[in-house]
Amino acid sequence: MRDEPPENEKVNSLATASRVGFEIERQLGLPLGPGLYLVSTPIGHLADMTLRAIATLARADVVYCEDTRHSRTLLAHYAIRTPLRPYHEHNAEEQRPRILSELEAGRSIALISDAGTPLISDPGFKLVRDAAAAGHAVVAVPGPSATLAALTVGGLPTDAFFFAGFLPAKEGARKSRLAELAAIPATLVFFEAPTRTADTLANLAEELGNREAAVARELTKLHEDVRRAPLTGLTRHFAADPPKGEVVIVVAPPQETEVTDAAIEASLAPALESLSIRDATRMVADTLKVPKARVYDVALGLKRRAGS
Ligand code: SAM
Repeated sequence: MRDEPPENEKVNSLATASRVGFEIERQLGLPLGPGLYLVSTPIGHLADMTLRAIATLARADVVYCEDTRHSRTLLAHYAIRTPLRPYHEHNAEEQRPRILSELEAGRSIALISDAGTPLISDPGFKLVRDAAAAGHAVVAVPGPSATLAALTVGGLPTDAFFFAGFLPAKEGARKSRLAELAAIPATLVFFEAPTRTADTLANLAEELGNREAAVARELTKLHEDVRRAPLTGLTRHFAADPPKGEVVIVVAPPQETEVTDAAIEASLAPALESLSIRDATRMVADTLKVPKARVYDVALGLKRRAGS
């Protein structure tokens, strides 16, 4: 087996730095057209800025953010001097007409949140809706998102997932929301405050069953930690040792329930009225996700009974 090349052969730092420098200079030199730019920013690690995010924030006429003091640190880190203005849940109603008139005047406006992707459990939806309705360009500059970061490290199925955001704080509303979510055939992703994590895990176990799950904490930061276990095990762990920092909970989809022959017959009967056995079998097998051979046997049984 070939030995790994020494570190200095794998990464030629000077060449990489010069290439990155060239690329960011090129991005900074491109004109930024008028429009609303939705720029993702780090969820912890300051280096998680895409070159395009840096260049967009540097070239925009103004950057709207949730908290100007918080975002000033990020902009200062990249020596970006674009003016910052607040856009948050308490001033959005007054700010929106102002931003729309700036867009009307042909300005380039960037929207960021405190962390991650704007609009994802953060302000911006109504602004995007109104800007698009007024015919302005609305452009995503994608990047970090706690949702996707947690989903990818959770070790649970990723082919279908449902982002459920924050659960309601009140117990009754929380239980009825969980009842709505229980049957969704997808991995569920929740944001949660650290102080509520253990209680929420207990609620999830009660309402969804003891599914496999993961708690992703402080992603991309110094104390990053991902714990993967069934919900009751995670509940015990975090009740005894409440988490610090920011938390995402990821929960596996419900176990596939056994499809009975009666359920196959119920889908086949109407299909066989207009389709051949072959086509009806294929359609029902695809819909119910059961093997074609099994559906075919049930279809033959149905035909036999119909003919007798
Ligand atoms: N828009 C952001 C995004 O795209 O990541 C999410 C904003 S939401 C108001 C904040 C929640 O995101 C936190 O309560 C936590 O659930 C999650 N979060 C943000 N940063 C995180 C991190 N570094 N590690 C784990 N969860 C994080």
